[in-house]
Amino acid sequence: MTIDLHIHSTMSDGTLTPSELVDLARKRGLKAIALTDHDTFAGYDEASRRGSDIGLEVLSGVELSVTHQENHLHLLGYLFDCADDTFLGRVEKLQRARDQRNKEIIARLNALGIIVTTDELADVSGSGQTGRPHIAKLLLNKKIVRSMDEAFDTYLGRSGSVYVSRFSYNIEEAIAFIHQAGGVAVLAHPYHLLKDDIEKGALLGQLKDIGLDGVEAYYPTHIRKFRKQLIKLAENYGLFITGGSDYHGAIRQGTSLAGGKGVSVPEDIVGIMRQARDLIKENY
Ligand code: AMP
Ligand code: FE
Ligand code: FE
Ligand code: ZN
Repeated sequence: MTIDLHIHSTMSDGTLTPSELVDLARKRGLKAIALTDHDTFAGYDEASRRGSDIGLEVLSGVELSVTHQENHLHLLGYLFDCADDTFLGRVEKLQRARDQRNKEIIARLNALGIIVTTDELADVSGSGQTGRPHIAKLLLNKKIVRSMDEAFDTYLGRSGSVYVSRFSYNIEEAIAFIHQAGGVAVLAHPYHLLKDDIEKGALLGQLKDIGLDGVEAYYPTHIRKFRKQLIKLAENYGLFITGGSDYHGAIRQGTSLAGGKGVSVPEDIVGIMRQARDLIKENY
């Protein structure tokens, strides 16, 4: 049996609800999942209840955008206590920063003569966290762009005309508050971010030294060669490996739950993650 530890729900920029994702995971024969919404774990309670009802294990999870020196990385947190007030306070700060940024992006679009409103954006995004993919979808719906990629390339991405940066924690402090909430910290899709630095080995070593626990080895864009390299590097540095599909539902074409080449994540990883978590707790 396999698991999927990287999934987005309607609580951020995915298009299926936490319950729908649990049902789909069950249908696909998965043993366990974690929702890893951007800057929120608000989907956990619903997913976990649904999981108990139908007999599928649900781990707490989150995906945070963090900085490391001049780099922007994605950090996954797992197995933390979702009721931890300090952790909740940290993600609430990110959520406020997102709201502020979305308003600024809309103002910049308006200044370019592209009229979009916060209400229209709210309609696209629904009840969860609003992110750039929702703004991209809105531009697509309004036929201002022809594709999501065009929306990011022309407007929303780092070199786009209305790009706005937002507050993020540095990776060291993010790892520390994940640990403090009883969780483990995992570097998401490393090759997607910093292929050369990872291959040289130095980056993973540095991150291990500041508390990183694991690295995402199974990921749709990680070809077999990358995956094998990552597994070896993880072993050298004493990091565990995880994996997932980064499924976002219909808003991102070409991904599927537990899908993608090489995303066959062994279920025994969950036990290894729990052991690592217990060791951190002992030392806290
Ligand atoms: P945000 O969380 O608002 O900073 O937006 C980041 C999200 O946009 C992440 O989920 C990315 O995967 C997604 N994203 C980045 N580039 C693209 C793209 N070209 N098409 C669709 N989604 C993208
Ligand atoms: Fe996303
Ligand atoms: Fe990511
Ligand atoms: Zn993700």
